[in-house]
Amino acid sequence: MKVHKAQVLVESDCELGEGPIYLTGSGSVVWVDILRGRLLRYRMDTEALDVVEVGSSISSVVPRIRGGFAATLESGFFALDDKGGIVSRLGGAIHPQDSGLRFNDGKCDPVGRYWAGTMAKDGDAGKGALYCLDPSGKIEEKVSNVSISNGLAWNPLLGRMYFIDTPERSVVSWQYDLDTGRIQNPFEVIRLDDSHGYPDGMCIDAEGKLWVAEWEGSRVCRWDPASGNCLERIELPVSRVTSCCFGGADLSQLIITTARTGLDDKQLAEQPSAGSVFVANLSVRGFPVDAYPG
Ligand code: CA
Repeated sequence: MKVHKAQVLVESDCELGEGPIYLTGSGSVVWVDILRGRLLRYRMDTEALDVVEVGSSISSVVPRIRGGFAATLESGFFALDDKGGIVSRLGGAIHPQDSGLRFNDGKCDPVGRYWAGTMAKDGDAGKGALYCLDPSGKIEEKVSNVSISNGLAWNPLLGRMYFIDTPERSVVSWQYDLDTGRIQNPFEVIRLDDSHGYPDGMCIDAEGKLWVAEWEGSRVCRWDPASGNCLERIELPVSRVTSCCFGGADLSQLIITTARTGLDDKQLAEQPSAGSVFVANLSVRGFPVDAYPG
């Protein structure tokens, strides 16, 4: 098995760094700190870091074709301006502020539908769901009884969508219709045994293989969804690895977010770079981030 070592790209003290995207135009990495409600941006060329307090928990962000961003805040989908200020709600409210739920991982599919799931803030099982905001602003619940919605990726050539409900320790594949967004016939394609951590964020490479971040696993592993086999791994010096995306000028670097939340003082002393963003150079490329057209 090929083993890579990740290096720190940006030192950061994110409680729950998550949802990295790479903007090819500016050569920037954008990610969120869910628990501290921060939107962070790092320019690869100038090494400038910009941190914005959004005023809400923010769990995912995507570029918006008309400018600025679309993002999931605690209770639903919102438009943000280019500086990270909240502009307006997109679609209706999903749950009230006092529901005990919050949004989690989200991403646009290859035609710009924004998929994002929810979870109970206390981790209570089965309280969340997976939603889809289409470019017209209509929101549809796609999957119910989800515990911790994570890890979205699509392979339109195969007509597959991949999804992770973290406590299940598996990656599920849906038959996916690119034209309608309909998903059906889920089945498990990857199972993470006890030698792995908990599957969290995920992205797909140009060969259709899945890169899955491992919470409590100190790594990102590359998996073949056809065989269910683990093919490569990227090792990190921190345990709580949360998500990943392809970036860099030729989209052959994996950008990886991590977390500090839940680590005790001893663990934080052993993992001083927990919460930072890491990078690993790969021989395979990924895809540019898909933007929201609505
Ligand atoms: Ca996540």
